[in-house]
Amino acid sequence: MPELILKKSRVRSVLQRHPWIFSGSVADVRGDPAPGATVDVQSESGDWLARAAYSPRSQLRARIWTWDKDEPVDEAFFRRRVDGAIRSRRRLAESGAVTGYREVHAESDGLPGIVVDRYSDQRVVQILSAGAEAWRQAILDALGGRGDCQGIYERSDVDVRALEGLPERSGPAWGSPPPEDLVIRENGLRFFVDLVGGQKTGFYLDQRENRGVVRGLITGGEVLDCFAYSGGFSVAALSGGAERVLAIDSSAPALALAARNVALNDLRSERFERIDGDVFGELRRLRDRARAFDAIILDPPRLAATSAQVHRAARAYKDANLLAFKLLRPGGLLFTFSCSGGVTPELFQSIVAGAAQDAGVHASVIGWLGQPEDHPVALTFPEGRYLKGLVCRRAT
Ligand code: SAH
Repeated sequence: MPELILKKSRVRSVLQRHPWIFSGSVADVRGDPAPGATVDVQSESGDWLARAAYSPRSQLRARIWTWDKDEPVDEAFFRRRVDGAIRSRRRLAESGAVTGYREVHAESDGLPGIVVDRYSDQRVVQILSAGAEAWRQAILDALGGRGDCQGIYERSDVDVRALEGLPERSGPAWGSPPPEDLVIRENGLRFFVDLVGGQKTGFYLDQRENRGVVRGLITGGEVLDCFAYSGGFSVAALSGGAERVLAIDSSAPALALAARNVALNDLRSERFERIDGDVFGELRRLRDRARAFDAIILDPPRLAATSAQVHRAARAYKDANLLAFKLLRPGGLLFTFSCSGGVTPELFQSIVAGAAQDAGVHASVIGWLGQPEDHPVALTFPEGRYLKGLVCRRAT
């Protein structure tokens, strides 16, 4: 097997079971591995450390599959890991209340570069690294061979694949293609999911519990749902008792689906209004028209993809939160999120604090929000924590 020799100073991170090896950690590569090939990771003194997938094009040069010398990386490996991940979601699956959830969450489930989301009888898979690409068929076989889904759809149409030298790919990958009107259940709510044309794998499953929080805390009043996508938070707020919801998103198809999701839940559609536009601009227009809301949700897309972009992202977060505080009535609630991994919870809270101060508003944090159980964070992989949110109440 080809070998990847680590610099002495970088051995510790692997021993501590961090799954990533960056190009700067590599002292030597022996045996000319192809992209995605399995390599033995060794120290300069010849100690075996791990078995990893080689990504020659990426700065993230290798991702570790196993730290067990006796564990080969083969078809059975993927069956075992997939089984383990899916078994750990059994409580969710068996509850019956939730039919859309993440089954495989990449590194934190021991499967770097692999994401699997479950939508009712369908699975959506994302293959994100050269190593995962090399084992794509084994992964599809492991998922399809379980006999517990009708079809697997691939949504590997994401830009991170370019960093690995891989083209984007999407389409049916196994079994029957998804039905046109696929609906998932989520704790008493129902949502249409467009897993073919929607964003990511079709739905923001990571916000499930936070939609529950919104539903519990918003019991009336006027709500502004910014970056609404297919209306997850809008539906949650309306079902909690909101009188009106105004949703803003730059994707017209997403907002059209949001309107259908309002109707699907038997919520009165005249209570739901939508603006197809840029949130940053629309917030300013609402401010100029002296509009005010009892609750505001801010769930922007990932504004910092890399740590180098954190500074610029912080300005955008502050801008949006500042405008939101200005539009919030006294006593009102702001649900504000960041899904940029590089923005730590502490930094995010300080950005929001700065926004309140510059808006001239007093507010308190009444809730700290994060990722649900099907988006776990391995303790050895703190980078897996990306979603954080705050519930702020403006003083009366
Ligand atoms: N809150 C949603 C998920 C939001 S994802 C949910 O719970 O399902 C981010 C959304 O922001 C996407 O729908 C995207 O279309 C939208 N978006 C990105 N940039 C935007 C901008 N500048 N103005 C308005 N919407 C934007």
